[in-house]
Amino acid sequence: MSFSDEEGRPPIPAELRRRVLVEAGHRCAIPTCRYIEVDVHHIIPWAKCKTHEYENLIALCPNCHRRADRDEIDRKSLRLYKSNLRFLHDKYSQLEMDVLFNLFQQEPNAVLPWPPMMMILLKRIIDAELVTVTLAATGVYMNGVKSSPDYLSLSVKGREYMGELGLQEL
Ligand SMILES: [Zn+2]
Repeated sequence: MSFSDEEGRPPIPAELRRRVLVEAGHRCAIPTCRYIEVDVHHIIPWAKCKTHEYENLIALCPNCHRRADRDEIDRKSLRLYKSNLRFLHDKYSQLEMDVLFNLFQQEPNAVLPWPPMMMILLKRIIDAELVTVTLAATGVYMNGVKSSPDYLSLSVKGREYMGELGLQEL
């Protein structure tokens, strides 16, 4: 692989390398590229970090890899591209990610009012227990449908999930 000629650098363990490639679907992680020939790139250069860690690795094609090495694609952008892969991989909708981001940016105990009839739109992050639904003690009903909001909060698991995306470091 592209770095194997660097002296003293142990190879990326096969399992870790596979995880990084699977994350990107074995294509370049830059969404406008998605070329099929890929290398594994260190977001913080190997020379600085001297370690192979999942959060710091991203699949890039040889072209984008060169551009990243030249800082034409900066680290913050690479982190965002990696985060976007995670969204794809976990198959949450943009709306679900927006709700998670909204809660993540607020105080730890913040709540977001959400209409009960719209809960279906958040089904996957609710089922994955990334958010907790708290039913309002009383509600307003119209034609048997609860029209006043219930409340969403970010679970411990949800906070960890958002933390793992590495965006707090931006
Ligand atoms: Zn590329």
